[in-house]
Amino acid sequence: MTIARILATKGREVITAQPHRTLLEICEILASRRIGAVVIVDARGKMLGILSERDIVRAIGERGAQALDDPASSHMTTEVVTIAEEETLLATVERMNIGRFRHMPIMKDGRLNGLISIGDVVKFRLAEMEREQSALREYIATV
Ligand code: AMP
Repeated sequence: MTIARILATKGREVITAQPHRTLLEICEILASRRIGAVVIVDARGKMLGILSERDIVRAIGERGAQALDDPASSHMTTEVVTIAEEETLLATVERMNIGRFRHMPIMKDGRLNGLISIGDVVKFRLAEMEREQSALREYIATV
């Protein structure tokens, strides 16, 4: 299954924030949107980094609650691993596993064009397995 197929069902909206936003503001976005990471972009929408709940926990663990006033730019990951929509679900999981992260922005023509989380991966892989299983059952019933 390709990423493009997943995005056709899931949609291509990516929740973003600008780098001057504080960690507290990012927490509010994560909580209200029920997500685990935001992509940090400049005013023109160019991706600058990614900031996940794990970065916020790490910042608070190291600096205490005052870290909540820090800008997102101080704690985001700037070397973002991305994937093209022509790639497969399997390739995405492999890269997430190697990098030990749970969010993967999708790029198209150099622009942000979707995001897949580990939750999406599990949901779509389970659906795929169910389809494979019922196809196999149907096949066995006919032989
Ligand atoms: P996560 O598991 O996605 O909450 O992220 C764990 C760590 O990896 C955090 O430091 C994130 O900023 C970073 N991270 C998340 N997604 C990516 C990605 N696609 N490429 C590089 N780093 C990432």
